Amino acid sequence: MFGQPEPSPEHLLDAGLEATAEAFLPRNGYRATVQFGYHCEECEEAVFPVTTRSELVWLKNRRHVVEEVSKHVSGGLDTWIVDGLDFLDKHNGHSVVVTQRR
Ligand SMILES: [Zn+2]
Repeated sequence: MFGQPEPSPEHLLDAGLEATAEAFLPRNGYRATVQFGYHCEECEEAVFPVTTRSELVWLKNRRHVVEEVSKHVSGGLDTWIVDGLDFLDKHNGHSVVVTQRR
C-alpha cells in the first residue's frame, strides 16, 4: 500500500463545498469572531460598526473628506460609515484608536 492518495478537487467537492471554502478562507471564521471598532481612550467608549479594520482606518484618516461627500449623497451612506462618523464627531479632538474585540 502507498498510503492515502492525494485528495483531488473532486474529492474536496464531495466533502462539502462549505467546509472546503472554510478551510481555504479562514478569514471568514476570523471575521465571525473578531470585530473591529473605534475606542475613545478619554471617554472609555467604543463603537463596533460592521466592517473591516482597514475600512475603519480608511474612514478615520479620511473623515473630513467622507463628511464632505456625505453632504452630496442623496441615497445615504452605509450604516457603518454613518455610525463611524457619528462616533468620530462625538469624540472630536479626543484620542480615538481602532480597536478589536472577540
Ligand atoms: Zn471621547
